[in-house]
Amino acid sequence: MAPVIRDAQTIWFSDKVRRAGFPDVEAFAAHFELKPYRLKQIYRAAAKELVRDIEDVTTLPKELRTQLTAAGFSFSSVAPVVVQRSSDKQTSKGLFRLADGSEVEAVLMEHYGDRNTICISSQAGCAFACAFCSTGQAGFTRQLEATEIFDQARYFAEELASRGKHITNIVFMGMGEPFHNYDSVMNAVALLHDAQGLNLGHRHITISTVGLVDKIDRFAEEGIQVNLAISLHAPSDDVRNRIMPVNKKFDMDELLAACDRYIEKTNRKVFFEYVMLRGINDSEDDARELARRMKGHLYHVNLIPYNTTPDAPFAGSEQDQIWKFAAILDGAGIPTTVRQNMGRDIAAACGQLRAETQPKAHKTAAAAAS
Ligand code: SAH
Repeated sequence: MAPVIRDAQTIWFSDKVRRAGFPDVEAFAAHFELKPYRLKQIYRAAAKELVRDIEDVTTLPKELRTQLTAAGFSFSSVAPVVVQRSSDKQTSKGLFRLADGSEVEAVLMEHYGDRNTICISSQAGCAFACAFCSTGQAGFTRQLEATEIFDQARYFAEELASRGKHITNIVFMGMGEPFHNYDSVMNAVALLHDAQGLNLGHRHITISTVGLVDKIDRFAEEGIQVNLAISLHAPSDDVRNRIMPVNKKFDMDELLAACDRYIEKTNRKVFFEYVMLRGINDSEDDARELARRMKGHLYHVNLIPYNTTPDAPFAGSEQDQIWKFAAILDGAGIPTTVRQNMGRDIAAACGQLRAETQPKAHKTAAAAAS
């Protein structure tokens, strides 16, 4: 299948002009008599100069700015509802409202000046119903457009810029399943990567998936160096079936086979996320079984301390148990890291802030939804 990636400026305008009621950028440009250099100027002001809104672009005639605003043309599609900063100031979590009232979350993690990572959402809600995940328990609301994804990053990019900083990394680990909104996510990647915009290197972007095998195969064909992370969370089908309904559609053998095809094709490492759930997937036997499955491949395991959520009846593993588990993997020669926990005091795990402010959406059958 052909890659969906198109020119970033075209992607950006096509979302923005549709919101203002124009079918495409050509119709929009004709209506306002905008020359190509004007379009470039507008895009650059939004994507690179991070100007808050069109009204503030002083290089454009005032009359044009007023006309564009009156037509409903706007730089951002996400409006911050609450932005909370953790007590150590390393984590800021934003809840954003979209035009139709749906809400999504994005998180900025500042790793002591070294890296500034933004975690963004790809959907409002999620259809995959992972038992331990707050977003999964609330159900699916809708797909996000590419610019609705990009604008979450733009918000924090502007905030960082006001402090002389910039985004260094992006992870698709907020709400939603990125591979269930494949085209918009790839377009969002093109926007994030564009040299005329945020200019983020592909290697600094990570897409995390619940494990949609057909999309992993498609992603392998894109020819881009964006990192792939798989939410594995279990050493066996038996355990995975209990916490991740998607495993009934694509079991672990199929999933790992797709990961191996990806590695074969791209020569890139695959990252496995493994959230440590007390008494569910964290025994020493689980660690040994996981080590057996992980051995001999270009794999990296990232153990994630669980953030408890009121929606799900799970507890995180004891710290000691996490280290024991890590030591077994490490001893078996599996590259293993333990994720640093950030922002616990502001409910920074996926879907938690929204869960505090919004009633539950309708639940959907996960396996049917890919
Ligand atoms: N749909 C994508 C992105 C989800 S969020 C995916 O499944 O990968 C990114 C990661 O956070 C996933 O690994 C997810 O399983 C994990 N996660 C969800 N809820 C969590 C919680 N309460 N504590 C810790 N990690 C959580």
